Amino acid sequence: MELNTILEKLGQEEREFISTLIEKDPLTGVYNRRKFDNDIELLISMSERRTKGCGLLIIDIDNFKEFNDKYGHFKGDLLLKQVTKNIEKSIRNYDKIHIYRYGGEEFVVIIPDTTSNEALAIGERLRKKVKATCDVTISIGVSHYKELAGNINELITNADKALYEAKRMGKDKVSLYEKTS
Ligand code: GH3
Ligand code: MG
Ligand code: MG
Repeated sequence: MELNTILEKLGQEEREFISTLIEKDPLTGVYNRRKFDNDIELLISMSERRTKGCGLLIIDIDNFKEFNDKYGHFKGDLLLKQVTKNIEKSIRNYDKIHIYRYGGEEFVVIIPDTTSNEALAIGERLRKKVKATCDVTISIGVSHYKELAGNINELITNADKALYEAKRMGKDKVSLYEKTS
């Protein structure tokens, strides 16, 4: 049975409850990987009709293993929440932007109807905000459909490559994927 068919049978409150269970990360409260996989397809197909395209940020906490080893897993969990909250605060003005917990200490932000340079600027703002408010720093890889990638796979892979570059350059950096590299 299709999920939507089941949800349609429920009342408003139950539907919201089930949606939260399915789409959100219980620790941080942001959307999860499952929701990302759903949304990205929709947003990419929407960007076909827009002029600017769609930016994608992959955010990874720097040296998080070290933090966990030093302060323990519980403090690590609190830090994940704190980082999430501050990322959310910085992007609140852009109500169409979604943040997802992509993996353990990795987050993805999708920015619809934006240029690659605007996405880079947002990434830089997030990096500064986390540095100023949390006990860790973050590195960010930025990619863009269609300026720097031609499909979803490329969009994610290229953001990942840019993230790797940000780490290689010494972490606490935002790196825009370069098409020629
Ligand atoms: P880098 O700067 O290269 O990203 O180094 P790193 O230590 O952040 O990366 P690495 O992949 O070596 O380690 C990631 C760590 O994130 C290891 C794991 O214990 C921690 N982690 C992942 N998910 C969670 C979680 O839900 N809670 C806590 N407390 N830690 C987590
Ligand atoms: Mg990681
Ligand atoms: Mg990390």
